[in-house]
Amino acid sequence: MSSEAPQKVSASHLRRNAYLYVRQSTMRQVFENTESTQRQYALRQRAVALGWPLDRVIVIDSDLGMSGASASDREGFQKLVAEVGLGHAGIVLGLEVSRLARNSTDWHRLLEICALSETLILDEDGIYDPAHFNDRLLLGLKGTMSEAELHVLRARLRGGILNKARRGELRCPLPVGLVHLAGAGVVLDPDQQVQQSVRLLFQTFARTGAASATVKYFRQQGILFPTRVARGTHQGALSWVPLSLGRAAQALHNPWYAGAYVYGRGRWRKLADGRIRHQRLPKSEWHALIKDAHPGYISWEEYERIEQRLQESAQALGWGRTHSPPREGSALLQGRALCGLCGNRMHIHYGQRSGSQPVANYVCFGRGRGFGDPVCQSIVGTQIDIAVGELLVEAVTPMALELALAVQQEITARLDESDRLRHRAVERAQYEADHARHRYMQVDPANRLVADSLEADWNVKLRALACAQEEYQRQRSADRRGIDETARARILALATDFPAIWRDPNTPQRERKRMLGLLIEDVTLIKQRQISAAVRFRGGATKTLSLPRPLTAQQRRVTHDDVRRQIDTLLDEYTDAQAAHRLNERGMRTGAGDAFDSSSIHWVRFSHKLKSLRERLLDAGWLTGKQITAKLGVTRTALGRWRQAGRIQARICNDRGEWLYRLPDELANSGENIPIGTTDNPTARGAV
Ligand SMILES: [Zn+2]
Repeated sequence: MSSEAPQKVSASHLRRNAYLYVRQSTMRQVFENTESTQRQYALRQRAVALGWPLDRVIVIDSDLGMSGASASDREGFQKLVAEVGLGHAGIVLGLEVSRLARNSTDWHRLLEICALSETLILDEDGIYDPAHFNDRLLLGLKGTMSEAELHVLRARLRGGILNKARRGELRCPLPVGLVHLAGAGVVLDPDQQVQQSVRLLFQTFARTGAASATVKYFRQQGILFPTRVARGTHQGALSWVPLSLGRAAQALHNPWYAGAYVYGRGRWRKLADGRIRHQRLPKSEWHALIKDAHPGYISWEEYERIEQRLQESAQALGWGRTHSPPREGSALLQGRALCGLCGNRMHIHYGQRSGSQPVANYVCFGRGRGFGDPVCQSIVGTQIDIAVGELLVEAVTPMALELALAVQQEITARLDESDRLRHRAVERAQYEADHARHRYMQVDPANRLVADSLEADWNVKLRALACAQEEYQRQRSADRRGIDETARARILALATDFPAIWRDPNTPQRERKRMLGLLIEDVTLIKQRQISAAVRFRGGATKTLSLPRPLTAQQRRVTHDDVRRQIDTLLDEYTDAQAAHRLNERGMRTGAGDAFDSSSIHWVRFSHKLKSLRERLLDAGWLTGKQITAKLGVTRTALGRWRQAGRIQARICNDRGEWLYRLPDELANSGENIPIGTTDNPTARGAV
């Protein structure tokens, strides 16, 4: 074909520019394959030989380092196509032109445009005119072969990799703690500190049974975890970082630590919008799995146990369930509670409080979760659920809906008016378009200049009209989404039924959550002195509820002031058990809602520093048995006999049955140790 070259190049080609397209697919080729680049630039001389002046040979080399597999991100190729399309190019030069584009679509498009704009194509083999069928056929074939070549190359490469991986011979990047050693394959990292850190990770997990607890332990002990730089100039360099949950989970999930050679645990998938997503595959679909391929930190059985354990805890924690459909759990705000402190979505933890029913807690783990930080905030859900439920019942009343519907009607009435106004805009655009058409028709076709400008003007007016009509229709249909009568009746009926359905104990909690989801966007919770719950309704209205903080277990035991006063009075006369009995008779309950007994009275006395009956009596001058025997000089037996005979005032002062005595008044004031028994009962003295 070179022989025909002079015939193919015409004066019209030479009037236009020559474009030299230079490309290397990867940056590596740019650096290493300089020979090819030199050859590409040398093509310039060919163009000069064919008659193009050197300054009209334009080099497009902005795509150096871009793959030819797709034209979309290659700016230079796009520019080339544009220049050819505009008829600026007389010839396109390239080393193996078919490599301009390795994608057939791009290539054929370029050929098509070259044929239309009568642009020649030149490569090292010769010169082609795409307008000629034979040349085009040849170029098309070259393009197809080039694409096929790429495909075969890739398939071979991939096939080779997969085969190698299946045999366990492909060198894969290793997790920290394992290294490739020349001649020995994969071995444990000779760095003892690295080894110990990895061992500690598995040991801690074995001890605690949870990844988060493992992370927390590392955090508390201030232990860092090793990591190796994956790529770049410092590839393989060791650095120490705080262990994060993600890193821990990755290590725990990694079968390489169990001594297994593994390839193809996941797959990259290209989405329609060009993004690439990684997808994990189940163990059965892994491309290669060779157990006991190298020394590991744990056994394969251990690895499987860990997998099992991680899966169980993931299910228990409900990870990835934050946006799930409503479930049976009692927490009403499942998936709708937001943390007011940090903005994260709150999780639900079911915990046991005094009763038998599990209580839902809304818990925000905050951003520190991955590093074992304490939770951001945790709020008992019971009260919040009740309050939000009440708010809904209140909000969805027939009256509220009636009002909303009335407003809707009012708006519809106003819309008719604005509709008329908007239609004016369309009429006006119509008039202007008609007018422009009229003017265009009037002009003498021979007067090209005027006719052209008038035609352009008419086109502009027609476009404006189309826009106006479209806008009008759009607005109109948006407005017309009003509410018809049946819908209105249905809504009102719902409002009447709503409270009944909501409060019906037979309504499953799941249904309540569904109803809640229809009405409420989300609820933002903050626990401070009080708990505030900012409820955002669908449609934008908000309402903030303030709730007292639920009492802590200790606070809940604190007895009410009034009850405390009653206890104080009772203790003037009664022992603890007797006072409890009296309170129970009066129908009083402890702070925790239980009946009183002597220990709860004892607790109240202790916590409020109230004196017991015994202390009160002693304060009032009563004496213990020991004191009075000493004072009177009588035996305990004699004292007992006197008490039984009623000769001395005595009373029980506590639940153990201890007696207190009162000195007869005449003796109490005398200040002497005069045994009263000497006159009446001489034997008593002898018994001491
Ligand atoms: Zn938070």
